[in-house]
Amino acid sequence: MKFKTLAIHSGHDPAEHLGAVMTPIYQTSTFAFRGVKQPGPYDYSRSGNPTRKALETCLASLEGGACGFAFATGMAAETTVLMMFQSGDRIIVHSDLYGGTYRLLQTVLQNKGITAVYVDLRDLAATEQALEGGAKAVWIESPTNPLMNLVDLRPVADLAHRYGAITICDNTFSSPYFQRPLDFGIDIVVHSTTKYINGHSDVVGGAAVVNDPKLAEKIGFLQNAMGTCAGPQDCFLVLRGIKTLALRMEEHNRNALTIARWLERQPQVAQVLHPGLESHPQHELAKKQMSGFGGTFSFRMRGGQEAVFRMLEGLRVFTLAESLGGVESLIEHPVTMTHASVDPAALVRMGITPDLIRVSVGIEDVEDLIADLSSALSH
Ligand code: PLP
Repeated sequence: MKFKTLAIHSGHDPAEHLGAVMTPIYQTSTFAFRGVKQPGPYDYSRSGNPTRKALETCLASLEGGACGFAFATGMAAETTVLMMFQSGDRIIVHSDLYGGTYRLLQTVLQNKGITAVYVDLRDLAATEQALEGGAKAVWIESPTNPLMNLVDLRPVADLAHRYGAITICDNTFSSPYFQRPLDFGIDIVVHSTTKYINGHSDVVGGAAVVNDPKLAEKIGFLQNAMGTCAGPQDCFLVLRGIKTLALRMEEHNRNALTIARWLERQPQVAQVLHPGLESHPQHELAKKQMSGFGGTFSFRMRGGQEAVFRMLEGLRVFTLAESLGGVESLIEHPVTMTHASVDPAALVRMGITPDLIRVSVGIEDVEDLIADLSSALSH
């Protein structure tokens, strides 16, 4: 079946739920045994829950994977996947990535003896050189948060496999509607379902999807052992959000591209970072690897941080808030908000400078959004 059909039907069979057309919320911690030593299909909700199972099945089918896992947050998904590695292991990590992932790697994982080696994965020679030093995994984010750089997934996956490393891709920005990393040879896809997959800014959640049964077994074991799973209410909400994922992504994509093109023409704007623009250095790769560009992008203001703050204070429709991927438009200043946990030298190295603004374009009327930005820019 096609994506839009899977988004609505995958993971749910009314016959298994007294005919209920929508997956019920199984708000229970435990399940009755049928008899001594005879558990039913579920025994305890940390190990498995029917609402979570429906979401996990749906997520797997949308990513084109065999097995999905739903977690309490995106960071819980990342932590669980990273707990597959042992003290002494090296992981090659794309040098430009979400600040929370960087913090997890630099603090929690480093203290456990797992080392992150940062490499610009757009440079295949540098990636190969790092792999020659030995690595268990390559961690990719594409597009990256907030600089909107892309990683060419197929050659990086092939290279990593040649050196015996697995590949993990954070697919939060694209959602499976616009990009399916498993199709390019990636081994594990992770998501913050908080963002586009849920899409309504009312849940924090995470996901991992794999094809390989051995990886599925390891992640399933860790999800249960560490207790990082999502609760049934949250799973219900994410399932409900997924039903309109395709429609929302089309509208996010259209609105964001219209606004990015408009911003490129404004004298107060120095640069727009959006993979759908012809000015983006990886525009051709974006067209090859993604079927759309999503709703989030960044731009640089002339006049530095002072101009940024004045502009942000002037907005009325865009909300100044962290996160992205909801139906409402959000705007944020990465240096002082989402990426404040990254050390200043690393921010400069990445190119996350005080003149940078990130927008998550919602599905409001694009004319109202442009009018709001226009009035704030003149502020
Ligand atoms: N990955 C990316 C690309 C993100 O943007 C975020 C959150 O902003 C996360 C992971 C972490 O997800 P969560 O906030 O759901 O823990």
